[in-house]
Amino acid sequence: MIDLSDKIALVTGASRGIGAAIAKELAALGATVVVNYHRNEAAAQQVVDAIAANGGAAVAMQADVSDFAQATALVKGVYKQFKRLDILVNNAGTTRDNVIMLMKEKDWDDVINTNLKSAWNCSKAAARIMMKQRHGRIINITSVAGISGNAGQTNYSASKAGMIGLTKSLAKEIGPRNVTVNAIAPGFVPTDLTNDLLEQVRDTVIELTPLRRLGTPEDVSALVAFLACDRAGFITGQVISVDGGMVL
Ligand code: NAP
Repeated sequence: MIDLSDKIALVTGASRGIGAAIAKELAALGATVVVNYHRNEAAAQQVVDAIAANGGAAVAMQADVSDFAQATALVKGVYKQFKRLDILVNNAGTTRDNVIMLMKEKDWDDVINTNLKSAWNCSKAAARIMMKQRHGRIINITSVAGISGNAGQTNYSASKAGMIGLTKSLAKEIGPRNVTVNAIAPGFVPTDLTNDLLEQVRDTVIELTPLRRLGTPEDVSALVAFLACDRAGFITGQVISVDGGMVL
């Protein structure tokens, strides 16, 4: 049984989808969870309430993590309130899909900033705390698109491939202080992010997936829980796919 009692976890973009499942799972295993959100306060509060109803501990904290100052203030705020930060899950993400000829510069900037810069912003602030503690777990939610690419997602795939480089470099940098940094690459998981796209490609995706189904947020959160726990203490710099074998 994974035990995260006494751990403080920050999950970015935890008001919906995969982030909400991660927050709930970490809390169910004993962690106190900070549920970060950007615009959706009501949804974040629902996650906090669900955790509390299950006997867990959580608070919601607003921040646009693509903004360096806000992300730094978020991490500092967590540390100020809880005096520790054990687990950072860089999950916040977005898409602005289009073929390159039609993609606007703003679509590139928004996706790179929301997906990649946010992870760097939060990791930079968290690494300072975790290195001092001589303990920490940073888990980056990348994507199979960052490994194999995807037509119509030059911005998204680049941001997710960037997260993989960030993961490997930071793992080398802060491993000596007992902080692990890993990435999880989900395949297709039905959420607000993918519902439109999945309407068109659901059957094809399932056919290309050896396990013949789409993923669930809980498929991803189960691996986050393991990577966050003490027993995963010798795993760092890895990119682990949770995709039913779609990208092999
Ligand atoms: P989602 O349902 O659209 O949820 C996105 C979350 O990110 C929301 O909680 C949103 O907050 C938050 N967010 C967006 N921009 C933010 C910002 N600037 N600052 C703080 N929070 C922000 O997405 P999802 O499908 O759960 O995806 C979660 C992660 O998994 C993303 O990194 C995504 O790229 C990755 N992923 C997803 C899939 C998939 O198939 N779903 C596959 C591979 C990887 P608000 O609610 O406040 O807007």
